[in-house]
Amino acid sequence: MSYLKKQYREIIEKIDKELKLPKKWDEFVKKEAEKDNLIIKTQGICHCKNCGTSFKSNKKINEIVKCPHCKNEYLIKRKNYQWHNFQNRTLVLLDKLDSNWIIRLFVIQTVYVRGNIRHSNAIEYGRVVLPEDLNFVNNRLYCHMYGTEKVFGNQKIKRWREYHHGYHRLPCEGKLFPYNLKKLFANTEYQYSQLWTLAKKEDCIDISYYLNHNLPSTELLIKMKLYKLAFCPKTFNIKGSFEKRFGIDKSYYPFMKKNNIDIEELDILKLFKRKNIKAIRFLKKYRLDHLKILAKYMNMDKLINFIKRNSNFDMDLYIDYIRFLEILKIDLKNKKNLFPDDIKEEHDKYEMQVQILEVGEDTRNHIKQRYNELEKYTFSHNQYFIVPAKSMEELVDESKQQSHCVRNYAKLYAEGECDLYFMREKETPKQSLVTVEVKNGRVVQSRGRFNSNINTKQKRFLNLWQKKVLKVA
Ligand SMILES: [Zn+2]
Repeated sequence: MSYLKKQYREIIEKIDKELKLPKKWDEFVKKEAEKDNLIIKTQGICHCKNCGTSFKSNKKINEIVKCPHCKNEYLIKRKNYQWHNFQNRTLVLLDKLDSNWIIRLFVIQTVYVRGNIRHSNAIEYGRVVLPEDLNFVNNRLYCHMYGTEKVFGNQKIKRWREYHHGYHRLPCEGKLFPYNLKKLFANTEYQYSQLWTLAKKEDCIDISYYLNHNLPSTELLIKMKLYKLAFCPKTFNIKGSFEKRFGIDKSYYPFMKKNNIDIEELDILKLFKRKNIKAIRFLKKYRLDHLKILAKYMNMDKLINFIKRNSNFDMDLYIDYIRFLEILKIDLKNKKNLFPDDIKEEHDKYEMQVQILEVGEDTRNHIKQRYNELEKYTFSHNQYFIVPAKSMEELVDESKQQSHCVRNYAKLYAEGECDLYFMREKETPKQSLVTVEVKNGRVVQSRGRFNSNINTKQKRFLNLWQKKVLKVA
């Protein structure tokens, strides 16, 4: 346990002595603790374990439902549900000491055990002092070497230490106590910040960010009731028209406000320009750069319908497919191309065409010439035969079937640096078996599927071919 410098110890002691918890604190803690609870459903009736209200709902076990009485949203569980450990709920209290901002960090811990809910008190574990950015934690916080942290609420505060965890600062996100902020900020540079309103509306605020960056756009966004956008004030100018600031015209403002949209949702709104919050939130799980590609060709509804129609929809695969079509200049206005029945199959088909295209016409022509030169070494014996590679198409097909990268040999083959042959069974001439590389009349590599080694029988065939045909050459 590291030793705390005297001057830091004095700060900690002074906080203990001079900073009292505000009047409304207990009430605030109680209200926050109540957010962790369950609703128990038996015979179609929901019972709120927080306020005791019973009500009907179609929602199922493990879905979330809002209690009509206390208005909290809880997970639904069965009556015989035994044990539920809720995530720690972080509470943040801002205060002022001399010329410093003091951020105090607490957690509430809640467990549900056989019908009973148990909330802890607010457990203090950390303090941040600004503007110096001193980070302290006490013995209640255990830092695991892999970066996970755990608060032990049943321990008494014995000692404080500086928080050093790699280069990370102590995270300050949590539910910020809102009721003292207006007074704290009076006659400071934050007196118009409106952060007290943000603290009331939002559950997860990093107050240290706002204390380190006092941006006028914060106030403006909060006043506009775009609370979630106020989490990234840097993104928004304060000057210019609505459209200039938000990248979308003002007719979208009521929609943005009503749904308290966040920055990701705004990006999707800007892209598809559809006032459908459910659809926007559905698309949030995909990368914006992917959505940008798709927005060129389809509207939001068509995209979502297509995604939902495909079970196990793979966005990366689909984006690859769209890119292949772009490269090959295939009509993307055509619905059949845009929304293929089997993405994987079409993907593979066009991938091959793109690979063939990528090597360039010269290389493709050289490969044909190489075949003409090497055709004379074609050989067959017992169940096997061996032929040189005829075209880029064949090379790509072989590499695909064999799952190895003979494709990279295309250039070397075209330039005469190596000779490439396919050894196959007579009964299945289209099916890859062994890919053979020859240099100076000798087999230097022979590989099966996934670069596997070949069996004795196959080896014997190649030896015979080398002796009878190649060496003769
Ligand atoms: Zn309730």
